Amino acid sequence: MKLSDLQTGQAGYIIRVSGHGGFRRRIMEMGFVRGQRVEVILNAPLKDPIKYRVMGYEVSLRRGEAQMIEVAGDNYELRITNYDKDNGSTTVAGHRGAAPELHPKRIEIALVGNPNSGKSSLYNALSGGHEHVGNYGGVTVGAKRGTFRHAGYEFVIYDLPGTYALSPYTPEELFVRRHLTEQIPDVIVNVVAASNLERNLYLTTELVDIAQDMVIALNMYDELTASGARLDAVTLETLLGTPVVPVVARDGRRLDKLLDTIIEVYEGRNAVSRHIHINHGPVIESAVAELRRAMEPDLEHFPKHFSRRYLLLKFLERDREVEAQLAAACPRHDEWAAVRDTLTARVERELGEDIETAITDEKYGFIAGALRETFIPGKQERRSATAAIDAVVTHRVWGFPLFFFLMWAMFELTFRVGEHPMAWIERGVAWLGSLVGHIMPPGPLHDLLVDGIIGGVGSVIVFLPNILILFLCISFMEDSGYMARTAFIMDKVMHRIGLHGKSFIPLVMGFGCNVPGIMAARAIESRSSRIITVLISPFISCSARLPIYILLVGAFFPASASLVLISVYVVGILVAAATALVMRRTMFKADDTPFVMELPPYRMPTLRTSLRHMWDKGGQYLRKMGGVILAASIVVWALSYYPREAQHSYLERAGLAVAPLMRPLGIPWEGGVALVAGVGAKEITVSTLGVLYAEGGNGEEDLPHRLTAPDPATGAPDWTPASALAFMIFALLYFPCLAALAAIRKETGSWRWVALSVIYNTAVAWLVAWAAYTVMSVF
Ligand code: GDP
Ligand code: MG
Repeated sequence: MKLSDLQTGQAGYIIRVSGHGGFRRRIMEMGFVRGQRVEVILNAPLKDPIKYRVMGYEVSLRRGEAQMIEVAGDNYELRITNYDKDNGSTTVAGHRGAAPELHPKRIEIALVGNPNSGKSSLYNALSGGHEHVGNYGGVTVGAKRGTFRHAGYEFVIYDLPGTYALSPYTPEELFVRRHLTEQIPDVIVNVVAASNLERNLYLTTELVDIAQDMVIALNMYDELTASGARLDAVTLETLLGTPVVPVVARDGRRLDKLLDTIIEVYEGRNAVSRHIHINHGPVIESAVAELRRAMEPDLEHFPKHFSRRYLLLKFLERDREVEAQLAAACPRHDEWAAVRDTLTARVERELGEDIETAITDEKYGFIAGALRETFIPGKQERRSATAAIDAVVTHRVWGFPLFFFLMWAMFELTFRVGEHPMAWIERGVAWLGSLVGHIMPPGPLHDLLVDGIIGGVGSVIVFLPNILILFLCISFMEDSGYMARTAFIMDKVMHRIGLHGKSFIPLVMGFGCNVPGIMAARAIESRSSRIITVLISPFISCSARLPIYILLVGAFFPASASLVLISVYVVGILVAAATALVMRRTMFKADDTPFVMELPPYRMPTLRTSLRHMWDKGGQYLRKMGGVILAASIVVWALSYYPREAQHSYLERAGLAVAPLMRPLGIPWEGGVALVAGVGAKEITVSTLGVLYAEGGNGEEDLPHRLTAPDPATGAPDWTPASALAFMIFALLYFPCLAALAAIRKETGSWRWVALSVIYNTAVAWLVAWAAYTVMSVF
């Protein structure tokens, strides 16, 4: 009988609570635990919720929730007194008010697994002679039901048909899914053939998503050992959040261990058992998150058999079973379906494949990642092409040179190939400047156009080719699947600074732009690692800082350009690493929640998708150019131009105000002004220098020449190589740009981290720049 069937005034005893793990725990925390007496205070038909008294408290439950609780009527004790003969225990009947010992203690389990994983063998070994073979009415596929006893429990076991997934396409799949929705086993026993882990674990990832209590019976363990393969089952079970028990069903080996583990999970005292979220990549995950936010008002109406996350994922996937369940349960279903259609279309457009394929790919990526960490295949194992490539690319020795080579190639491409279009744009900007300069009559408008707008925006736009190439390389690494592999090789290194390999991906992406890097940190499961990664991301030198380096390195270090450039990047990386270490030591103590580094299948990115991703990011750069950088150039120009009659312009005065702070770094006041302006976006630093040094120049020389030329006022150049280096380092490390700060706020959820980021980064920038200037000045 269901709790929802009890009428007002009736009472009963709870036999079991079913549903997905989170739901059950919540209901049990409210007092609805096995053996408790529940009284119905008010159950009006058509009225939701229902009021109950349990453990002396009044509690309301929704009808949908009460349907998940199985109860026995008040006279239950009488019937069960005679039941448990072989156990010799008796129950006192009619003992009202006190919870009676309910007999028998019963666990219902369901064997779920691929065809030929050994479910029937396990079923026979467990149920022995007590086999009841039955067919479920009306369907062609059937399940066997058996019972047996172990450690004081009566087990009811179902041998379900073999299935590769829980999709609603074949009768077997539908049957298994219906069993899990309607029968709801207490514990799912996922039978996994150790001889074919990758294929078998796919079903496991779907079962992990539904979040019912589960134990993995790793069957055919004898074959795994015989093939010479090795498996770290302990790590695998922590990664999956599901206990893994190696068994040999055919010989009945280790079945006691399996049953004990099932009991542990059922009683909620298994240390490994926890609900993990399989990460389906940023595109799918953000769609799920948006769908969840949109459906917020209806979430409580969701069916309770499977986790909400699973239902949302399947809804997104247009699964017709889930669609029908949600249509029945959610009053505003039609509205949600429309939201879903938009989100699904977006995912399919962005990933360039249908959503089901995309989700399947991501799940295989999760499996590949989990196995790469725990499984060494034996001799006979036939390797997939992906696994063969991964064996090299993620090799703990060979992975590194390959990675550094690719990084080097990326920067080489960025600068060498970028030089040519850069020269063309430079010439174009100079031509435009002199053209406008000749056409326009002299006056403020002439100066605004030539010095302010063309000088300011022009000094930044020349770097567009470099930035597009850098973004193209990063898009290519991401789209091909290589980026995901870098997490693997860097895992050990990242552990040194208290992080995980997964933090590496956001950091590499940060070379392009810190904002997507910070957002990519979302994929990191552990909160403290996520926050640390977000906060050290701004130290990774993004492409917006590149113009600053190219300008100053070109002007002051023409002979050793690459070396200086790489050193600046390395300074950023070192500061990031040191910061991570300090944060791990002081703010967050070690946190070792293990998680899987996904290895999605390799894909040859089409030129079209890579170009599109490059263009998405490059487009942002151009918009920035037309917006904030244009505005900043005009403001900076105006501040440097006015007041005409006074000796010092406004900008000069601002520069003189910060000059005392900049003097120890050897940075002239113009540099101080540029840095103040660069708070908005780091490119503005260069456009500001462009504006400040435009005036007084004869228009023939380019900006680097004007920087190295002697200042007419003092007779000596404003800048020296040492001050240029200090400037680059300061610009690299100080105050994250406004877009990065907004991203930090969003990902950490707190202004506190934003404030810390601003203060800490600027202080560190000053100290490191000062040290660099001091050391460099000595030489
Ligand atoms: P089902 O399709 O999942 O019900 O799988 P079966 O129980 O019918 O088993 C499929 C095949 O695997 C049979 O030939 C079994 O003898 C064999 N098998 C089952 N368990 C084991 C095991 O632990 N080790 C080995 N080597 N073979 C097994
Ligand atoms: Mg079978």
